[in-house]
Amino acid sequence: MRILIAEDDPTTLLLLERAVKDWGYEAVAVRDGNSAWEILRSADSPPLALLDWMMPALSGVELCCKVRQESEAPFVYLVLLTGKTKTEDIVQGMESGADDYLSKPFDRQELKVRLRAGQRIVELHEKLRIHATRDALTSLWNRRMILEILGRECARAARAGTELGVVIADLDHFKRVNDILGHLGGDAVLLEASRRMNRVLRPYDAMGRYGGEEFLIVLPGCDQAGTVTAAERMRQVVEETEIATPAGNILVTVSLGAVTGEGPSIDSDELIKNADTALYRAKRAGRNRVEVATSSSNCVSSNCAGAQTEVAPAGLSHCPD
Ligand SMILES: [Mg+2]
Repeated sequence: MRILIAEDDPTTLLLLERAVKDWGYEAVAVRDGNSAWEILRSADSPPLALLDWMMPALSGVELCCKVRQESEAPFVYLVLLTGKTKTEDIVQGMESGADDYLSKPFDRQELKVRLRAGQRIVELHEKLRIHATRDALTSLWNRRMILEILGRECARAARAGTELGVVIADLDHFKRVNDILGHLGGDAVLLEASRRMNRVLRPYDAMGRYGGEEFLIVLPGCDQAGTVTAAERMRQVVEETEIATPAGNILVTVSLGAVTGEGPSIDSDELIKNADTALYRAKRAGRNRVEVATSSSNCVSSNCAGAQTEVAPAGLSHCPD
């Protein structure tokens, strides 16, 4: 586990660095509050930080306040290091958002056990975070998180004037899969099909389990052609080869509804509704295909609100099952 150490006194910094390395941690050392803040606010901040109270630029207490109030980074366990020992100082330190404090000069054994306690909290926090954000079967984002990501990406697209692609994928005849293979076999199919689809996405795309056998895919910066290409690639990798399950092998296909949105009025509910409509068309047209809807949020004038242009995806018709 990585530990951020922010301490302006070089001797203490060296002692702290040596101590945490001796106990198997990786040390990230800085000498002032501003440098510490730059690290703590970043998405890949170490999950545990030792902060000196008295430092140039930003004090440890100010840092604790900023982390708790301003940072959008994941949880960080904060330990204040201080020469102050009066009760009111300690109360002020803890009220600023610190999780623990340690008096200077520090005792190695005490520091060690306090870091272990912090590590336990960090690990528990991580477990809870995964539990709250991931789908238990597929480890993809759960429904709540993928909708949150979609909302965030809509806001970003509106702000940056970029396009956003959204795809809803639904495994074909999944009830039949469950009937033939049983629920364990069905779970294996869900897992493998979602892995295949996820594998062909870019690192910054997001995929979540939207419902039983339904997946929601968010493609930042994707125009219509890019969104259709991504959806088509997902369709192909699912049908490519049989999926092996404990109950036997099976060929599975997927239907996909794709939509893109842009502009200041881009709206996540609208995108989902239109992707859903396109998906429904894909199902009706025989399954194992991609259908595209253009989002009405592209339209700025009221008379075209709700209008959908149906784009026949050239070359995308496949033999329906
Ligand atoms: Mg100091």
